[in-house]
Amino acid sequence: MRGHGAAERTDAALQDQGDGDQELKREALHGVWRLSYRRLYCDLTATSRKSFHTLEMIVPTSHSNGQTGSEIPMKSLTRMVCCLFVLLLAACAAPPQKPLQPVYSPLILISFDGYRADYISRGLSPNLAALAADGVRAQAMRSAFPTLTFPNHYTIVTGLYPDHHGIVNNRFIDPVSGKKFVYNDRRTTDDPAWWGGEPLWVSVEKQGEHAATMFWPGSDVDIDGVRPEHWLPFNGKMAPDARVDQALAWLDLPAGQRPDFLTLYFEQVDHAGHAAGPDSAQVDAALREVDAALGRLIAGLKQRGIFHSANIVIVSDHGMTATSENRIVVLDKVVNMQDVNLVNAGILAGLAPKPGHETEVDHALLTSHAHMRCWKKSEVPARLHYGTNARIPPLLCLADDGWLIDTQAYLNRPNRHISLGEHGYDNADPKMAALFVAHGPAFKSGLVVPEFDNVDLYPLLTRLLGIRPRPNDGSIGPVAAMLQSARH
Ligand SMILES: [Zn+2]
Ligand SMILES: [Zn+2]
Repeated sequence: MRGHGAAERTDAALQDQGDGDQELKREALHGVWRLSYRRLYCDLTATSRKSFHTLEMIVPTSHSNGQTGSEIPMKSLTRMVCCLFVLLLAACAAPPQKPLQPVYSPLILISFDGYRADYISRGLSPNLAALAADGVRAQAMRSAFPTLTFPNHYTIVTGLYPDHHGIVNNRFIDPVSGKKFVYNDRRTTDDPAWWGGEPLWVSVEKQGEHAATMFWPGSDVDIDGVRPEHWLPFNGKMAPDARVDQALAWLDLPAGQRPDFLTLYFEQVDHAGHAAGPDSAQVDAALREVDAALGRLIAGLKQRGIFHSANIVIVSDHGMTATSENRIVVLDKVVNMQDVNLVNAGILAGLAPKPGHETEVDHALLTSHAHMRCWKKSEVPARLHYGTNARIPPLLCLADDGWLIDTQAYLNRPNRHISLGEHGYDNADPKMAALFVAHGPAFKSGLVVPEFDNVDLYPLLTRLLGIRPRPNDGSIGPVAAMLQSARH
């Protein structure tokens, strides 16, 4: 399948995004079915004209000799039908006409890490706002729980809740292997065994199309033995404009190499939110910086004549809320730290009672507390879809909005670091609400849709790509109305 320009679509196919049957859809996206249909239609039209001209010579018309159609002898009628059939066959066998000029229509998925849904109304994202005005914007997109970077980025590209894809936190321990996953340490994240499900770039490659990742959590891991055709290991020092320029360079590759699916990732808004809080001048500056990068991308797409044929989906992984030294739950005051192994602290604390101490630890934690809620993993509220995975510790405590959970030992450290902004809280908290904006031929114009779950992005993205989706937790229903040809 490689090298045949699979992503090239006809204009007609572009108008047909979102039709029901997946296989038909896939062919239509590739222009094959539409081209064939058009060709046959043209041939039949030409044939019909020729046939009637021929029939006029074979069968005398009532106009010329006074006979009516019903009085045509059976032999002549049979001959007429056979003649028409032969002509139709001839039409089918005729050499194909020159194919319509294909349109390059990549799907570009962009993440602005930590871009809270309401940031767009600050007036600092003019390029994003313009895309939203001419395309689709969601009032918010609900992150998967926990509202952390790695779990959510991997949910977006698999359609699976973290409980199901296995990246259950930014840091966690596998109870079977005893190995530790630390999101920013490639020596730990490189093991494909961590990464369940099949991310979009793997499906795209397996199904004969082309993927390029200008960073995305998980995209530099050899998942299922497949990597994106074009990718770079994460490098936080690479400036936003340089990332855009690399993405544009990939779009410039010849058909058969250029990406059908392209990701871009920008962490600047998240970093500023942690460092200075969501209402800081630093966040405002980061909003301007990533919007300028988006503007550079749009200009590059226009220069190449593909701005109107590309589908662009811009999301974030979670929001951000202000945190403070003055809002810390000290775990030692709740439970004897000698009785537990602490797996995580911060927003979502994960604890495992030491053998023999289960009863007193349960008793200490599974009661009401100021500024945090604790559950056994099996009793986490169903709406959070979290708690079945073996990598989740037996007990969980979740801080209330704006609060942190830490140990006295950590707070006593001279080098302790308390951020001014955090995420990881309950995904029903509006401060955790994520961004969704989409623009392109597949999408309606000027539409604002209600909040939807980010697992529902996956069936939308596979439909745009024309690839077969893998089993997932998402549903096209909540997002179908944003597509041009949505059926209601
Ligand atoms: Zn993030
Ligand atoms: Zn963050």
